[in-house]
Amino acid sequence: MKSFERVLKKRILNFGPISISDFMAEANQNPKFGYYKKIFPFGKKGDFITAPEISQMFGELIGIWIIDSWKKLGQPNKFNIIELGPGTGNLMIDITRTLNLNKNCANACKKIYLLETSKKLRMHQKKNFLQVNYKLLKKISWIENTQKIKKEPFIIVANEFFDALPIKQLQYTKNGWREILVNFNNKENFYYTLSNNPTLLEKFIPNIKKKIGEIYEIPIQSLSLINELFKKFNQTKGNILIIDYEKKNTYGNTLKSIKNHKKNNPLTNIGISDLSVHVDFELIKKISKNFKLNFYGPISQRNFLIKLGILLRAKMLKKNASQKQKQKINNSLKFLINKNKMGECFQVVSISNLNNKKPEGFF
Ligand code: SAH
Repeated sequence: MKSFERVLKKRILNFGPISISDFMAEANQNPKFGYYKKIFPFGKKGDFITAPEISQMFGELIGIWIIDSWKKLGQPNKFNIIELGPGTGNLMIDITRTLNLNKNCANACKKIYLLETSKKLRMHQKKNFLQVNYKLLKKISWIENTQKIKKEPFIIVANEFFDALPIKQLQYTKNGWREILVNFNNKENFYYTLSNNPTLLEKFIPNIKKKIGEIYEIPIQSLSLINELFKKFNQTKGNILIIDYEKKNTYGNTLKSIKNHKKNNPLTNIGISDLSVHVDFELIKKISKNFKLNFYGPISQRNFLIKLGILLRAKMLKKNASQKQKQKINNSLKFLINKNKMGECFQVVSISNLNNKKPEGFF
């Protein structure tokens, strides 16, 4: 038996079946065995590929979006960028290169906070910044939570971040809602089971029609982070950009596990496959209304990038490119915006308090 599985089984033996959120947290973030703590997941050789790894155009357009947001913040001479879950660091490299298109904006950006829990990825990011632009490092602070972020105008970017945060799952039974838990049997396999008792989490579930067997997901870790971030709006101005898989239906199980670009049973290959879920933008919208913030979107990644000018950017890049490079630009453009690739399944939202000034890229 693999050592990580042994640790999980011991925990279940001692304390009983664990919630899906604990299971996800362990699988993705366990300090010794968790996926993001030890594995470098990105790219063709990894398990999945993200938009900034496909093409520089993605980060460049986010850079343009940040310049526009900074203008709508009133062009403060001090503002900070916060990236949630920066992966390889490539997105931030493309963003900061593009910020130089507007020197005032680039100079006004005093700090770049990177919320990253993985030591392995932090090290990779640092190495990456050193190689590409060592001056960037002066502005960068790695953070584990939002407490250290200064009370200055901010712009937050989160690409494929919230989908990695643990959720709870509740299932509707003839006895009411029950939490789904992970247990294991004598054959040494993990399996799903239900809690015997009702759960207080029930109060999170909207009171709409439901059938026996239906599953409702509660993104507990995202909820607390979003609350912390939204509180920052009470102190200053800001704008948040979130790009992620959208949860389309109120009910349903969106937990998926990916290994080597293929679907995997979430209860197998624990810690060596990537566990993710779809993001509940409706819920984020509801919370933003409670905080009296403006919420824009969701808009598809396709429409967002086209509105920001990706077609023109691809044309410009192709001008001085070799035949082979042109082909590569075309392919990555298709990957980012085609409906059967990333174009539709990724959706973009923005939350801000910019006096009703609509952020760029939204209708
Ligand atoms: N945004 C990047 C990477 C997405 S993968 C890209 O688009 O390529 C998710 C990232 O979030 C990784 O960097 C991972 O280490 C980080 N991460 C996952 N869970 C986290 C948590 N709870 N707190 C902070 N970072 C986390």
